[in-house]
Amino acid sequence: MENSPAISMNGLIGPTIMLVFAIGFIWVWWVDRRHLHSVILAAACALFGVAMLSQVLQWPSGIGPNALFSGVLYTLAVVLASEGMLRRASKRLGFVAGIALTAAIMISLWYFAYVQPNLLARIYVQNFSYGAVLLVVALRILPTRNTGRADHILFWVLLAFALHFFPRTLLTAKRSLPTLAMAPGDSLFWQTLQLSLSVMGAALALTVLATILTDVMNELRQDRDLDGLTGVLNRRGFEEQADCHVKSRRRAPLALIVCDLDHFKQINDTLGHHVGDAALKAFGGMLRKCARASDIVGRIGGEEFALLLPHTDIAGARDLAERLRSALSSDVHSIHRQDVRLSASFGIALKNPDDDLATLLMRADRHLYGAKQAGRNRIMSDPVQASSYVDNTGSVPSSPAPGI
Ligand code: GH3
Ligand code: MG
Ligand code: MG
Repeated sequence: MENSPAISMNGLIGPTIMLVFAIGFIWVWWVDRRHLHSVILAAACALFGVAMLSQVLQWPSGIGPNALFSGVLYTLAVVLASEGMLRRASKRLGFVAGIALTAAIMISLWYFAYVQPNLLARIYVQNFSYGAVLLVVALRILPTRNTGRADHILFWVLLAFALHFFPRTLLTAKRSLPTLAMAPGDSLFWQTLQLSLSVMGAALALTVLATILTDVMNELRQDRDLDGLTGVLNRRGFEEQADCHVKSRRRAPLALIVCDLDHFKQINDTLGHHVGDAALKAFGGMLRKCARASDIVGRIGGEEFALLLPHTDIAGARDLAERLRSALSSDVHSIHRQDVRLSASFGIALKNPDDDLATLLMRADRHLYGAKQAGRNRIMSDPVQASSYVDNTGSVPSSPAPGI
């Protein structure tokens, strides 16, 4: 990153690409305002592009002014890019650290531009400090086993971009810049700098943009599949996820619980719709709390919910349903300062080898209907072993499902 006297059309390619990326980041933010880091990254790209442009166009003219002007733009671009990438990972570089970093780099550049002019020192200060800052950012967003593929790609691209500052500078700067005050436009240093900043900068910007687009798509998918009131999956989300499990040919047992709040219409009619809503929310929260991470929980109708339980047999599913049933019906719930009595009926089915989701749901629904017919606030299921309907009275073997 140093001054070149040569103004060529090729030199405009890099800045133009960075400005296009700035527009891309703003566009993404425009579509989904939740990602403020898109705006920060847009600013980073724009500053980076303008910094490149100021060197290519030699504006402002003069070695010192140009070195400091492009230097402050490059430095702010690196600081903002770091802040944007860290924010995306719910981390921060921080305002004070950003200012301190910018000040330290700028004081060094000023010193080597005016007090003791030294082109090589300016090149080392900029390239090594940018490489080091980006390296720290890469290590702070180190992906774990749970992070998505996009995060892994971003980490490796950022790591490569950060590391490239060191060998490129060491291999090209000293050799091609004898004692000149500014880097000649046809020097190896200037040529590789242009190429690497354009290509690798664009690759990094593209990767970050693609990662944020992936975030946006994942969030929209989640919004689409979640029930806004209760926080569990909606019918669409439940069916999509449950269908995958049911279709997989795993041999482990797979149980389905469907449950329906009893006499819910009465709650709405006597206490008001808002109390009904709050009761649904409370029940959804109870289901989420007691479900394991691998369980799929959904609201499949107005006051009807379903839980698909991988690696769980009828006994395990009955155990979970019983804990839910007794927790719900044994307490008087205080909702909007009203005492509300709630209960639910449960139907449970175990997946047979040939069952699809619709068949499984139908069988669980039949048991639920049986539980309603038998007086509500009870559980009916496929046989635990070979017997027919089982009622909810009597103890049931313990299961892998956690308590409430
Ligand atoms: P049962 O014990 O047979 O299930 O009787 P029920 O009254 O619970 O069943 P019914 O199907 O007669 O009524 C269901 C009620 O659930 C009617 C509907 O107004 C209410 N409901 C459905 N969705 C919502 C919702 O999102 N909020 C509220 N407050 N009520 C809802
Ligand atoms: Mg009901
Ligand atoms: Mg119902």
